[in-house]
Amino acid sequence: MTPRIHPYVSKEPMVRPNAFIVEAENELVIVDTTLTVSDSKALKEMAAGLHKPIVGILLTHGHPDHVAGTANIAPEGEVPICALRSVHDLMKASEQAKHEQWSAMFKEEWIPKWVYPNRIVKDGDTVHLAGLEFTVVDLGAGGDSDANSIWLLENNTLAAFVGDFIFNDHHTYMADGSVLRWIANLERFEPLMSKYKTIYVGHGPASDSSAIAGQKDYLAAACAHALEATGGTAVFTEGSRKKYEELMFARYPDYGFTFTVAFSADALAKELVGVAPV
Ligand SMILES: [Zn+2]
Repeated sequence: MTPRIHPYVSKEPMVRPNAFIVEAENELVIVDTTLTVSDSKALKEMAAGLHKPIVGILLTHGHPDHVAGTANIAPEGEVPICALRSVHDLMKASEQAKHEQWSAMFKEEWIPKWVYPNRIVKDGDTVHLAGLEFTVVDLGAGGDSDANSIWLLENNTLAAFVGDFIFNDHHTYMADGSVLRWIANLERFEPLMSKYKTIYVGHGPASDSSAIAGQKDYLAAACAHALEATGGTAVFTEGSRKKYEELMFARYPDYGFTFTVAFSADALAKELVGVAPV
């Protein structure tokens, strides 16, 4: 059978990360594992409803909203959990800080202990799971975290799982910086991603390759509005951060993940201040 892709959209209302179940003839593969206790359990139930075993997990990047739920999908690392070394290492380096930063906000929904990748892959590797072929591409920094990958489902060039390399109908988390490299990566990998029938993103609905241009536009718009709000200095005050937020909300009135706009402003400014007049 042609593999079927079942998106799982988190119920958690603020971040709403996606995960995906790839259904092959006899087995399932999960791509990313959501943030919260409830969502990761619901993801597992959705998989159970397909009456096929989960034989592997693929992780796009190491942010909590894409990896925390692994603890409820494969708590003992019972299946291959595949990720780049850089993704694994970023998880290790950031787990404690992420707990401190976010656990109070998510309370009992916060997953207190992560399960780590147990199969390390490198750029260009193809992983065989459920009779399917998944190739990983190492983007480095220049996505929404310091270590990003995309996973390509090669069977019928069916899907590119791009994680938070692209946000659709959601504001973009830019708090980890590397926006210039992000724009470069979008340009660089557009020809590759365009070969795949559907682009499955970390937040928002799946899309065709037009989402790549949309993400480039968003990043350019964020830079422009940050300069506009700060009178060209790229140094935010409380007032100019508010103005930046208003400009972004006016430009993208229906987008979710709104709190990330102000949250990302200082990291964006840090990059821009290097190109601002002194
Ligand atoms: Zn995310």
